[in-house]
Amino acid sequence: MTRAFIVGRFQPFHMGHLEVIQEILKEHESVIIGIGSAQYSHTLQNPFTAGERHLMISNTLESKKIFNFYIIPIEDVNSNPLWVAHVESLTPNFSNVYTNNPLVKRLFFEKRYNVKSMELINRVEWSGTRIREKMINGENWERDVPSTVVEIIKEIDGVSRIRALAETDDA
Ligand code: ATP
Ligand code: MG
Repeated sequence: MTRAFIVGRFQPFHMGHLEVIQEILKEHESVIIGIGSAQYSHTLQNPFTAGERHLMISNTLESKKIFNFYIIPIEDVNSNPLWVAHVESLTPNFSNVYTNNPLVKRLFFEKRYNVKSMELINRVEWSGTRIREKMINGENWERDVPSTVVEIIKEIDGVSRIRALAETDDA
């Protein structure tokens, strides 16, 4: 059995992420979850802090009685050729990488990792971009994320935060 690695920004952690992690754990003894662009928060693309995202993921997995995971916040290095080494410097060893991001795929492939794509599940609804858009527009986003994530976003007043970020000072 082996350890697998998945990386995302998880802005926010949604049902698609949860399903993919559950699938990965059917084939691996544990999963390392990298929280990418960890230094960013309070922007429209990255509204939540690394700590808030960490809480979303750990509370959700623990509520599903999943404990064989490691969450590692990963700040950007702004150098693609250095990025895999940067990840390796922060994480336990792993052999398999799961991603749908073409750049991440290529960078790990060049370092001889076993890289797999994941099947996209209900991508129309289960997409971070779409969920953030729903929050701004006052549409129903709650069913696209685990209930543990709904609770955390309510607790930190996340929807007002995103709406405030979407405001403009133009006339
Ligand atoms: P954003 O729209 O903000 O980029 P996202 O939904 O793509 O959000 P990421 O954090 O970028 O979420 O994704 C992390 C990984 O999970 C990526 O490899 C992405 O392709 C994958 N992923 C995201 N949503 C799904 C889904 N519905 N089914 C399968 N994989 C998904
Ligand atoms: Mg994405």
